[in-house]
Amino acid sequence: MITTLPTIPIITLDIYNQDRIVVGRMTVPYEPISDHLVITPSAYLSEGAPRLASTFAVTHLPTGRRIGARACLNCCRTVGQQLADIPGIDWNTTTTGDDFKALVGKATFNEVAATSRKLLSCLSEACDDESEW
Ligand SMILES: [Zn+2]
Repeated sequence: MITTLPTIPIITLDIYNQDRIVVGRMTVPYEPISDHLVITPSAYLSEGAPRLASTFAVTHLPTGRRIGARACLNCCRTVGQQLADIPGIDWNTTTTGDDFKALVGKATFNEVAATSRKLLSCLSEACDDESEW
């Protein structure tokens, strides 16, 4: 019997320092949420070496830009799906950059901002994180 193994999708992410300057790149696996939003492990540099953090991020697949704060896997799955379900956003042509507000309009921008802020609660112990690591 021949079995075809599924391909594990990967993405190369920029790694930023605390001043939001790109200091490295790392290729990581991701979990799809939708065609354009995915969950990636968080990465950082420690003394020049790439490291994975114990948190995840909702990431815009076409640009590799992170949306919202780092959070647990459950929060990224829940909030990421809520972001993907917001009407009026073509995530294929919309980046999360400076042009985002102009492209989607103020109301949709505010909904995205409010939804992505839910990831912050994960970091403040309000999360019911039941992820199995
Ligand atoms: Zn959480």
